[in-house]
Amino acid sequence: MTAARLLIVGPQGSGKGTQGVRIAELLSVPAVSTGDVFRANVSQGTPLGQQVKAIIDAGDLVPDALTGEIVRDRLAQADAAEGFLLDGYPRNLGQVSDLDEFLDGRGEPLTAVIELVVPREESIRRIAVRAAEQGRADDNDESIAKRLAIYESETAPILEVFRGRGIVDQVDGVGSLDEVFGRIVDALAARGITATVA
Ligand code: AMP
Repeated sequence: MTAARLLIVGPQGSGKGTQGVRIAELLSVPAVSTGDVFRANVSQGTPLGQQVKAIIDAGDLVPDALTGEIVRDRLAQADAAEGFLLDGYPRNLGQVSDLDEFLDGRGEPLTAVIELVVPREESIRRIAVRAAEQGRADDNDESIAKRLAIYESETAPILEVFRGRGIVDQVDGVGSLDEVFGRIVDALAARGITATVA
């Protein structure tokens, strides 16, 4: 069996948040979403939240140093000792280096990267649905366009790095939640990453 030290990557609206939580639950590892951490801090009005609110609303990236510190703190907690699923981090090449340094220091590199593939028109359509349902401040036209552009210019290149390591599983993200979930489960199982039987 291979440890589940996972990353899920996909454009905004690819369903990675929803699928990430389901996969993490199945494998009994924590789902660590930097976007969720930031949103929780914004809604609670913490100092961190006040620091990042304008950046997030504009669709820009929070500085790497700050984001990296949050992730390292989270991964150092006991529940992440056996594995974890990262959602939304790393998001650019600098963050990949930061994460590599941290995980290599523990002798625990990522074991699989799930790339959810969703056509641009489909992700825009899904973000519009989410905007109507959840009213996220960063789901406005300008911010969405910026986030998709950042995804293509800064985040997509990280996949090439992980492809070079042979750990990327491309998964078709179009279909029902259950269909896409099944595809991810199958891809991970082929790598020996499966739920432990209690
Ligand atoms: P998400 O929910 O992953 O789309 O994240 C929402 C917002 O949080 C992003 O648009 C960024 O402003 C910020 N954010 C989340 N993860 C990161 C990250 N790894 N690096 C920088 N900013 C991030």
